[in-house]
Amino acid sequence: MKYRLMDLLACPICKKFPLKLIVFTEFSIKPSEKISRCELYCSFHDIDLTKTDRNPECVKCYGVEIKDALIICEECGRWYPVEEEIPRMLPDHLRNKNEDLEFLARWKNKTPEKILTEGKPFSLEKSM
Ligand SMILES: [Zn+2]
Ligand SMILES: [Zn+2]
Repeated sequence: MKYRLMDLLACPICKKFPLKLIVFTEFSIKPSEKISRCELYCSFHDIDLTKTDRNPECVKCYGVEIKDALIICEECGRWYPVEEEIPRMLPDHLRNKNEDLEFLARWKNKTPEKILTEGKPFSLEKSM
């Protein structure tokens, strides 16, 4: 997925926008779409475009492919995995608990403590 997508993604549960993105792995690509600018929220530069006159350069928002990342909703405390470039923004009942916990365990060192212990709908045991 591209940073650009964060300009469009809202939490499927509580509809919060924008969401927080923590990138684990990424690589540069040649953008396939015409580069324009993020409209409401520029994730790469972390700028709320509705509250500023700044005009960020959004080349990276289209020219970087995010492979593994974590998307966090600071409103309802849910987190969503990005794996193999695909964000999995699923409602709780469609999520695979085992896969999700494996994901959290794999990226434990780069994941905020709050998500590890209190993240919804799944979190790692405090003893881990
Ligand atoms: Zn941007
Ligand atoms: Zn939410």
